[in-house]
Amino acid sequence: MRHDLTSLRALYELPFFDLIQQARETYRANWPEHEVQLCTLMSIKTGGCSEDCAYCSQSSHYDTGLERESLAPLARVLETAGRARANGSSRFCMGAAWRGVTEHDAKFASVLETVREVAKLGMEVCVTLGRLTPEAARQLREAGVTAYNHNLGTSPEFYPAIVTTHTFEDRLDTIRSVQAAGMSVCCGGIIGMGETELDRLKMLEVLCGFDPAPESVPINCLMPVPGTPLEGQPPVDIFQLVRLVATTRLALPKARVRLSAGRALLSREGQALCFFAGANSIFYGDKLLTASNPGVDADRSLLDELGLGIAKPEPLVPI
Ligand code: SF4
Repeated sequence: MRHDLTSLRALYELPFFDLIQQARETYRANWPEHEVQLCTLMSIKTGGCSEDCAYCSQSSHYDTGLERESLAPLARVLETAGRARANGSSRFCMGAAWRGVTEHDAKFASVLETVREVAKLGMEVCVTLGRLTPEAARQLREAGVTAYNHNLGTSPEFYPAIVTTHTFEDRLDTIRSVQAAGMSVCCGGIIGMGETELDRLKMLEVLCGFDPAPESVPINCLMPVPGTPLEGQPPVDIFQLVRLVATTRLALPKARVRLSAGRALLSREGQALCFFAGANSIFYGDKLLTASNPGVDADRSLLDELGLGIAKPEPLVPI
């Protein structure tokens, strides 16, 4: 069943325990292995981005004290990817702080070379490079990218309060290019930016309209960055987060629901509730692009404590 705003609201507003119990049943029916996917995210080009996303430490519109770095050399990326694999990650995601790329950019050729080498390590390869042309998407897929991350961020209505340098529709265009090229879509949002709970459900409604459905849905909690317009936002309420995780699990039963930025702000008990409600993927490692993330040992110990296994990489589907 494809959910719309009315049905999503009906789920989200269920009594808390009824909601997480339903989400649990859906999780168990679709993910019987009880495994969590570990993803490592590496920033391959940091800072100096032309876009004005109000939450982002990497935007050149704000003085966040972040030092710009140019594109990471292949050897450094391969070293990080190899370490991630040795630590149990089955997915390696490379992020660049760019408005986007086209097939004509010199930097794009370097990214393709990096992707080809990382793909040989046997992990799922994800990239997040901003806007893509259909041809750039095709070339990324050919080089070995399995998934492309491009978050909606928030609802279409709240989006202009967060970003003015590109539009919500621009993001949907990129997602269409990614899907046409045969890559999986990793697409979610950030909560705690001043949006309403209804905005979060409106974003989920858009995700429910994707065809095919998104393969993974990262749910980020804002990490307020000093110097950005959102520096003073209060933390997200844990029960609102769990409700959103549970509703996402019910609406998109086969998607990986990923706890992403902001996990460092959650207690172990809060994370356990998210796993119970259907989260089954985490970003892993000490650093998440430019934000802190729980340490590798702390994550392993939490997963052990909860009896959760670690997922193996999915084989690459030939094009
Ligand atoms: S496009 Fe990406 S890197 Fe650039 S400001 Fe927005 S979120 Fe940050």
